[in-house]
Amino acid sequence: MELPIADPGTERGEGILLQCPYCDSEAMHKLAQLLLPGLAAVCVDSTTGDLFRKPSHVAVELRKEMVDYITQRSDTFIADALIESEANQETENEMPEDPFEIVSIFMDDFSRTKRNIIGHVSGWLLSDSREDKIDEFVQEMDMTRFWPLDRREAIAEVLLKNVDIKTKFHCPEKYENEERLADHKEQCTFRPVACPNVGCRAKVSVRCMKDHDAACPLKVLQCEQSCEKCLLRRDMDRHCVTVCPMRPMKCPFGCDSSFPERDLEKHSSEFLQAHLLKVLKVIHEKGHSEEDLKELAEKLEKYNLARDKPITPMFRDTATMTLGCIF
Ligand SMILES: [Zn+2]
Ligand SMILES: [Zn+2]
Ligand SMILES: [Zn+2]
Ligand SMILES: [Zn+2]
Repeated sequence: MELPIADPGTERGEGILLQCPYCDSEAMHKLAQLLLPGLAAVCVDSTTGDLFRKPSHVAVELRKEMVDYITQRSDTFIADALIESEANQETENEMPEDPFEIVSIFMDDFSRTKRNIIGHVSGWLLSDSREDKIDEFVQEMDMTRFWPLDRREAIAEVLLKNVDIKTKFHCPEKYENEERLADHKEQCTFRPVACPNVGCRAKVSVRCMKDHDAACPLKVLQCEQSCEKCLLRRDMDRHCVTVCPMRPMKCPFGCDSSFPERDLEKHSSEFLQAHLLKVLKVIHEKGHSEEDLKELAEKLEKYNLARDKPITPMFRDTATMTLGCIF
């Protein structure tokens, strides 16, 4: 068949065009994650109050029914949305555009048709025990690999392409032949690429890589508190509150200063006089004996003498504790 050289736009025969297969892999993954709790809810609701059937007894059958139902709904989604919007021309079109919301609606609609008597009681639908049962069954299916992620992703991909009207999450490009499609695929911003961070196995659409990188737990970053360490994003919080020498601390001698922990020594020697006065004042107010006072003065002196040595956490803790007893 001869194809016109100039692009006739929407006039061209859609039937023979080849569609770019790429979609936003993170969105697909997110959608695939929704399917498992969706199925668990249906299985729990349809067997609650039934002495002879457990969610696991109905899971195979309901999975097939649910997948058929939501795939079919997604197939006709655009046509349905058009009819809907023509019927309600005076009210603004309320159809959601978010694929996750749309698929959730499909799953809810399916679930409604499968509820038994107890499943229709609103108290049950909002109860914590229903949530617990659903969570439990999700875990059970996860452990037994009842519905592996890659299978769910294959379904999610079809759903996503069907309901993503605004083509935010999949590539809408179509081409007349394989060569042109192949050329496009090399440039397509939806094409999946591997995350460059060592150890991260995520494959992400080129256009989403910046967002992924900004959240990737395996990205190496400079310490947020600006010590000289570089560490993985996922280890940052723990580092900053446990071992980072720049973590803020309050003066253990009770003056109101706070400073990075590594400056404790410097602070202690700079403010020796002030600390001593402060401590003496407290002792005086609390009526400590001369003995206590002498002992404390010795401790302070010792502490100050140690300032030429590198400070160890044990030494710091001892000093803090000693003074903590007096305050
Ligand atoms: Zn494409
Ligand atoms: Zn990554
Ligand atoms: Zn640090
Ligand atoms: Zn101080």
